[in-house]
Amino acid sequence: MGLFSRDRVEGKTPEQLAKMRTAGLLVARTLELVSAQVRPGMTTLDLDALAEVHIRDHGGIPNFQLVPGYRHTLCTSVNDEIVHGIPRGRVLEAGDLLSVDCGAEVDGWNGDAALTLVVGGREAGRPEDLELSDDTETSLWAGIAALRVGRPLYDVGAAVEDSLTTSGDARGREYGIVEDYVGHGIGTSMHMDPQVPNYRVDGRSPSVVDGMTICIEPMVTLGDQDNTVLEDEWTVVTRDGSRAAHWEHSVAVTAAGTCVLTALDGGRERLAALRVPFADITPA
Ligand code: MG
Ligand code: MG
Repeated sequence: MGLFSRDRVEGKTPEQLAKMRTAGLLVARTLELVSAQVRPGMTTLDLDALAEVHIRDHGGIPNFQLVPGYRHTLCTSVNDEIVHGIPRGRVLEAGDLLSVDCGAEVDGWNGDAALTLVVGGREAGRPEDLELSDDTETSLWAGIAALRVGRPLYDVGAAVEDSLTTSGDARGREYGIVEDYVGHGIGTSMHMDPQVPNYRVDGRSPSVVDGMTICIEPMVTLGDQDNTVLEDEWTVVTRDGSRAAHWEHSVAVTAAGTCVLTALDGGRERLAALRVPFADITPA
């Protein structure tokens, strides 16, 4: 699965996309639940248990548990943790910047999404953390908006990077855009070809094909993008201790338009604001 793989990735059929919307909605509702329940004093293991019960109660499998060596339903990355934080007994405090990554498989099809929130609500957050999270989310949608059938897939990463440059300029800071971890195709497995860089890359890009389903997932820091993996062999942290945000959606693109599979409304509202054609997919 090389970054410059030229293998053509097949698009999904309408029937397959409908199943992916079902999986995506379950992920969206699980993240909605976790966001509504999280409080100072809870542990990230508490959140993981909530998510696992919700996914299994709705006929899904926590697909992170299908990744060799990983036993949890969520990844919970706090403050200077960028991605792949393992749920544990860590007690969350008001003002912690928490990224929650969640995936589910339903009827053999997968969804994967992440969001960042401030524990205790936005009023508990440091201004720079709120800006970081908001600007990362904005960059995700810029990437989604760049996804068009027939266009180079690498337009997505260029749009993400340009969005973060514009946001950072307006805030008077330079964001670190993490390059060691990338988005990916999704379908019968959570992680499939092609790789989807969340930043601008030179070189020949795969083309976006009708029915393509990918995950776009910018990881952004308030400092440098340089990172390292902790001794638990999963948790990725910034080397400079700066805080990080991570936003992700699973997205389907067809000739008719785009559907954000892991957004509750399919992305209808935000895509309209971005003047991107929206193509609803009814879950099956
Ligand atoms: Mg994810
Ligand atoms: Mg992913």
